Amino acid sequence: MAWSFALVIDPAASDDPRTDFADTFTVIDPTAPALSVGELSTQRGDGIFESIGVVDGHPQEVDAHLERLVHSAELCDLPVPHLAQWRQAVKTVADAADPGESVIKLILSRGVEHGPTPTAWVTLARAADNTRSRTEGIRVVQLDRGYGVNASADAPWLLLGAKTLSYAVNMAAIREAKRRGADDAVFVSSDGYVLEGPTSSIVLRFGEVFVTPEPSGGILHGTTQLSLFAYLEAEGYATQYRRVLPAELAEADAAWLVSSIRLAAPITSVDGVDLAVDRDLTASINAYLLSPRD
Ligand code: PLP
Repeated sequence: MAWSFALVIDPAASDDPRTDFADTFTVIDPTAPALSVGELSTQRGDGIFESIGVVDGHPQEVDAHLERLVHSAELCDLPVPHLAQWRQAVKTVADAADPGESVIKLILSRGVEHGPTPTAWVTLARAADNTRSRTEGIRVVQLDRGYGVNASADAPWLLLGAKTLSYAVNMAAIREAKRRGADDAVFVSSDGYVLEGPTSSIVLRFGEVFVTPEPSGGILHGTTQLSLFAYLEAEGYATQYRRVLPAELAEADAAWLVSSIRLAAPITSVDGVDLAVDRDLTASINAYLLSPRD
């Protein structure tokens, strides 16, 4: 990934009354080393992040991403981010974006071991070209996540539902999917419910009803899925959060993995069984997701 801009934030307390936080930002060289060797984000993956899609300089769904950053911070006992400070940081970074698609990453780490404050930084990079997965689609396999659907309530220390920096497991699942001849994975709970992809939400279509697994199952509530449901409802479709069984994937009229940077990738096969792709609907969904939608 070619980083083009980065700034470090001196995190303000969530009740800081200031309205301008410019003097809490330090622009740094995105290609130079910047973190201390004692950083807990690198030593333990102890921190949280967000990836925001930027289209022609417009950052998408900033409020939804910041709300989720706050939710992740609360789950991880990190200091609650100051919304106005992070919003201003996102705008500062987005203003440096070139035309086309980019990605802004927000990172809040527990900081340096025994250090006084968390470490926070924001980066801008050109997004990978996702045209192929948006148009040609992706093959998925279902993989056991190893937790029951109630794990987030029974064992909150697993931090399910927080977007933490510990993505090694998610990346291992994608590698396993590739070993099995697919492009991506869909996690299934150990008690047999469809959850999400390692870096995406799943949306299924049954007739005029669009369905996604309910977020109470320890999955990340996707900002793209939320935005897509608002679009589909405005188009006259029904939407539903409910438990989804693995067998339903092969029975769906269509299904997609959706996320902020990839947008909507139609699923062409599940565990080797072909699934129909609605190319026209997929194209209109992606046109909507690429438009400034907030
Ligand atoms: N679920 C997981 C585990 C993710 O990592 C992501 C995005 O990275 C999503 C869902 C989709 O979230 P969003 O649509 O906000 O990008």
